[in-house]
Amino acid sequence: MIHIEKGPEPETFRLWKEQNPEATYGEIPKDVGLALRNALLLEQGFVCCFCGCAIGPCDETGEVLQIPLESIQPHNIRNAHIIPQSRDTAKTLDYGNLCASCNTSRHPKSEKHCDEAQGNRELPVSPLQEDCLSYFSFSSDGEILANPQRTKEEQEKARATISLLRLNTDSLIAARKTLLRALRTLPSEQVYLALARLFQKNAQGAFVPYYFVPLRYFQRI
Ligand SMILES: [Zn+2]
Repeated sequence: MIHIEKGPEPETFRLWKEQNPEATYGEIPKDVGLALRNALLLEQGFVCCFCGCAIGPCDETGEVLQIPLESIQPHNIRNAHIIPQSRDTAKTLDYGNLCASCNTSRHPKSEKHCDEAQGNRELPVSPLQEDCLSYFSFSSDGEILANPQRTKEEQEKARATISLLRLNTDSLIAARKTLLRALRTLPSEQVYLALARLFQKNAQGAFVPYYFVPLRYFQRI
C-alpha cells in the first residue's frame, strides 16, 4: 500500500449529507454513490488502496479498465472504510475514512484479499498513514514483507497487516513478481527512466497497477 492523500469530498456527497443529516451509509443514492466512487478512483489513480491492482469497470472479457464508472456496469471496486463501520459509526460517511479497494468477494477463498479480507477489523498500518509504504519491503519473487529496517514492533504491525489483508495470495505475488522482473531485466539506464514514469499517472489519470512495488523495491521511495 502507498499513502493516499485525501482531497476534498465530492460536492454531491457533501450536499446530500447536508440535506440528510440523519442518513446512513446504506442510504446513499445511486448518483451520489457513483460520484463518490469516481472521486475515490481518481484520487487513487485507479488502483486498489491496499494491494495496488487495477480497479474500475470491467469489459465483457472481464478485463479491468482504469476509467471512471458511467452508471451501473460490472466493476471490481468496493468502498473500504479504513476504520471499519462497526468500530466507529461516526466515520461511516466521513470521506477522509473512505478509500477504493478491489473487490474479491467472488474469488475463491484462497484468493480473497483487501477489503473483503479486512471485514470489521482495524488495520495496524493503513494507507491513510503518510509513511505506510516504509513499513513494507518486497522480495524479487514478489512477496510483500515487513521492512527489516523498522523496529520490531513496527515489523509486527506490518506482518499483522499483511496477514489481515492477505496481501500474499498467489495472484498478488505473481503480479508483483512479473512487474519486478520486467524492470530487473532492463539495462540500468532504462530502469531509471521506467521508474521515473511510474511516479506519473497516465493521461486518463491512472497509475500502472502495483506501481509502488518497484518504486519501493528499487528504493526510490
Ligand atoms: Zn486490493
